[in-house]
Amino acid sequence: MAILVTGGAGYIGGHMVLALLDAGEEVVVLDDLSTGFAWAVPKAAHLVVGDVADSAQWKEILAKHRIEAIAHFAAKIVVPDSVADPLGYYFSNTVKARALAEFAVRNGIKNFIFSSTAAVYGEPAVNPIFETAQPAPINPYGRSKLMVEWMLEDTAKVHSLSYVALRYFNVAGADPKGRLGQSTPNATHLIKVAVQAALGMRAGMDVFGTDYPTPDGTCVRDYIQVSDLIAAHLLALGHLRRGGESLVLNCGYGHGNSVREVIDVVKEISGNDFEVRLTGRRAGDPAALVAGAQAVRERLGWKPSYNDLAEIVRQAYRWERKLRDGTFARAR
Ligand code: UDP
Repeated sequence: MAILVTGGAGYIGGHMVLALLDAGEEVVVLDDLSTGFAWAVPKAAHLVVGDVADSAQWKEILAKHRIEAIAHFAAKIVVPDSVADPLGYYFSNTVKARALAEFAVRNGIKNFIFSSTAAVYGEPAVNPIFETAQPAPINPYGRSKLMVEWMLEDTAKVHSLSYVALRYFNVAGADPKGRLGQSTPNATHLIKVAVQAALGMRAGMDVFGTDYPTPDGTCVRDYIQVSDLIAAHLLALGHLRRGGESLVLNCGYGHGNSVREVIDVVKEISGNDFEVRLTGRRAGDPAALVAGAQAVRERLGWKPSYNDLAEIVRQAYRWERKLRDGTFARAR
């Protein structure tokens, strides 16, 4: 029995593929390679290049593999892009996920793990924010993901499909064994941007907003290391395999760091005092987002291993340097 990982050539999905293979699972990756890389998918996984909503592709996959679970990572993830292109985001993130859920239902695939996001909370009135809070996304990205959670909830009521939706806070860092990291060339994520600045790959960086109602005026986020995040997915898979009920869980550490704090850590670790420009706010950014992080521990027995910003930054820095120097191993 195989696990179908959509978006398995990307950053987070790619770490899922590594973890599943490490655990001896059979893995089929479905990825259109729009932002992912074939070289990131180990040969031990079956790579199918195509659209997650393409039924011809599904037929081909089902002809060759018995799919027991779907882990759906493939999505568009840039908040400002979602503001500029809402229909593109609703199509990629919502419409295609609907198709994939139907594929699961029609083919008796009972277990579904969905990459959701803390963006479903919008601008929380209080932090940490718990799963019981009313979702109130403030951008099309968050809405596009929340609609999928709702679809799964309604679907699970009437079909033999169970799901775990994991609401990711800010995913960062890289595989501790150095096999993979965030590799998208134009990634906009803070730690990626900062380590690129530290490595001289970009001319300094901007801080988007210094007038937020936070201790130092910059936004606060809960940065979760990518392998820790993936560990929650493997536990979710075990939970679903045991017939566990559908769950919606935050994935974060339960504490946050400001943009300034992150930049200070990157400067310290790299030894490079790169230029930092203080600029205006970026559209769609909430001031603070910190996970209420108990439920994932209680429901899945999750225990993080890399809950340390300096370690996360070191991993991201090491990976970025490999990318810059072309010294990473290509799987294919
Ligand atoms: N940010 C920044 N400069 C950058 C990239 C990000 O100041 O070059 C800020 C951004 O405004 C937000 C925080 O860093 O407050 C985290 O942004 P990121 O894009 O990493 O993740 P998001 O929280 O938007 O998912």
